[in-house]
Amino acid sequence: MVPDAPAFLHHARLTVLSGPSGVGKGTVVAEVRRRYPGVWLSVSVTTRRPRPGETDGVQYHFVDDAEFDRLVATDGLLEWAEYAGNRYGTPVAPVRERLATGAPALLEIELQGARQVRARDPEAQLVFLAPPSWADLVSRLAGRGSEPPEVQERRLAIAQAELDASGEFDVVVVNDDVARAADELVGLLTAPSPDLCRGG
Ligand code: 5GP
Repeated sequence: MVPDAPAFLHHARLTVLSGPSGVGKGTVVAEVRRRYPGVWLSVSVTTRRPRPGETDGVQYHFVDDAEFDRLVATDGLLEWAEYAGNRYGTPVAPVRERLATGAPALLEIELQGARQVRARDPEAQLVFLAPPSWADLVSRLAGRGSEPPEVQERRLAIAQAELDASGEFDVVVVNDDVARAADELVGLLTAPSPDLCRGG
C-alpha cells in the first residue's frame, strides 16, 4: 500500500520548488507524490499547448489568452509569469483553501513566479532544484526532445539566468539522484516553519 502524507505534514506552509527548465522538477515532484499521494501540488494555468500525454486539469489547466487575461484582471492568480513565449500562473483560491486546512501546499514554478510568491508571502519556503552540473542540464534539455531546437536554445538561455539566481532561495537541493532529491524535498515540506519554531 502506498502511504499517505506523513502524519507530521500539518504545518500550513507554502513551499515553492523552482529551478531551471530541464533540471527535473517534475520528476522529483512526481517521485514525492508517488510516495506520498497526500502531498498537495498546485495545478497551474498556462497558455502553452498541451504536450503529448498531458491532460487538461492534471499537469495544467490549459487556457487561451482571453481566459488568462481574465484571471489576471480578477486577481485570480497568486503569481504569474511569461516564460518562453507562454504564460503560466498559480490559481490563488485552491492554495488559500489548502493552507486554510492547516496542511502544506507545494508550487512548482519558475523564478519570476517564485519572486512574486516571496513578495506576497514572506513566510513561504523557497527551494531551488539545481543540476549537478551545467553539462548535465544541457544534455537533459536536449534529451527531452519534445521541443524544436530554437525553443531548447531559448530555455537554455533562461536556465543560465535562473542558475545565477539560486542564491535568492532558502535552500538549494541538487538533483544528482531523483530518490535522494525527493527525500530532501519531503523533509523540507514537513519541516516546521521558523515561525512555529519560535513558539510564538
Ligand atoms: P513547462 O512548459 O516545461 O511545463 O514549464 C515551463 C516552466 O514554467 C517551468 O519552469 C515550470 O516550473 C514553470 N511553471 C509552471 N507552472 C507555473 C506557474 O504557475 N507559474 C510560474 N511562474 N511558472 C510556472
